[in-house]
Amino acid sequence: MRIDNYNFKDKRALIRVDFNVPYNYQLKKVSDDTRIRLAIPTIRKVLDDGGSVVLMSHMGRPKNIPEEKFSLSQIKDTIEQHLNATIKYADDCISNEAFEISGNLKNGEVLLLENLRFHSHEKKGNIDFAKKLATHGDVYINDAFGTAHRAHASTTVVADFFDSNNKMFGYLIENEIESVNKVLESDDKPLTAIVGGAKVSSKITIISRLLDKVDHLIIGGGMAYTFIKANGGDIGSSLAEDDYLEEALRIMSLAKSKGVQLHLPIDTIVADKFSNEANTKSVNINAIPSNWMGLDIAEESIILFEKIIHSSKLILWNGPMGVFEMSNFQKGTASIAHAVAEATAKGTYSLIGGGDSVAAINKYKLADKVSHVSTGGGAMLEFLEGKPLPGIEAILN
Ligand code: AMP
Repeated sequence: MRIDNYNFKDKRALIRVDFNVPYNYQLKKVSDDTRIRLAIPTIRKVLDDGGSVVLMSHMGRPKNIPEEKFSLSQIKDTIEQHLNATIKYADDCISNEAFEISGNLKNGEVLLLENLRFHSHEKKGNIDFAKKLATHGDVYINDAFGTAHRAHASTTVVADFFDSNNKMFGYLIENEIESVNKVLESDDKPLTAIVGGAKVSSKITIISRLLDKVDHLIIGGGMAYTFIKANGGDIGSSLAEDDYLEEALRIMSLAKSKGVQLHLPIDTIVADKFSNEANTKSVNINAIPSNWMGLDIAEESIILFEKIIHSSKLILWNGPMGVFEMSNFQKGTASIAHAVAEATAKGTYSLIGGGDSVAAINKYKLADKVSHVSTGGGAMLEFLEGKPLPGIEAILN
């Protein structure tokens, strides 16, 4: 069922949203509301048709028990601002109180359920838990692209309790699928993937799969140093995952055999401590002095990466080039963001994915200067490589 073809009049829609938003605990406010903003059209469609909405989401990584730090009550007012209406709230997603509120929802009303991951059953995909969640709605909408690659109770198992006429994607997921297909089904070349960020371990498998699709693979950010170390370079005290050195070597040789041009940074801005106040200097990436750590790509790398970006017809970008949260280490990420925007202005299709890439593109106010900003990091990359995502399959099958 397509959301546009469904009339929600007198229906209660249970919507799995991805409100796993970055939160600033000092200022007590959502620091990047992209995911909330992008969920609004789906919620609006249900309300405008004359239905009601039950919102469910996770936030952060609670240890399967309620933790105030991860309470969705903290983001309630941000949702209200975006909807321009007050919403109801239940402090446990499957309590009697929650079912009472959802059971009495009137058309036009919205209920926000507390963090699903306060129950261990969510991540385990527990059937009874999913069945309970399902009783919150007459119709199920999955609009949480960021968790579509997880077979959790609220993203996948819950769909089994709705027939195919009463389960569907929201607009956010529909847009994500459309934009990924645009990249995968296009014959335009070259296709360049830019991968950065800290977590080499979580991205390395995906990188190796991307090698079947891309012409250029740019690796930056913290993960680049594992590749440099694997090649025998001196990386000082830069981030490195020693368990992944062999994997890095395998990827580099696989790239060669597949004719993919893999580009690592040439130079780096190093710091004598992990701080914006650290002393810094630019050095060759293979010769980082001991006790210094690489926290950004430097000038020559920026020029090389910009050149590749400008020559590309399709661009995928996931993960920052450095510790862009600190002003002294943001230049690499900012330069890449601007280059991607400039290439887009000249007709390149650009797809940006991942929480931190999204935060970066928003920081430099370039979100409307790229083709598509995805809300899913891992989900987007797995989807790109053609892996079936449980959250998507559960709606389609
Ligand atoms: P990820 O979630 O894996 O995309 O990682 C994003 C995080 O990687 C950001 O918070 C960056 O600050 C961090 N990061 C990027 N480059 C580096 C680096 N050279 N050293 C340490 N952390 C980095």
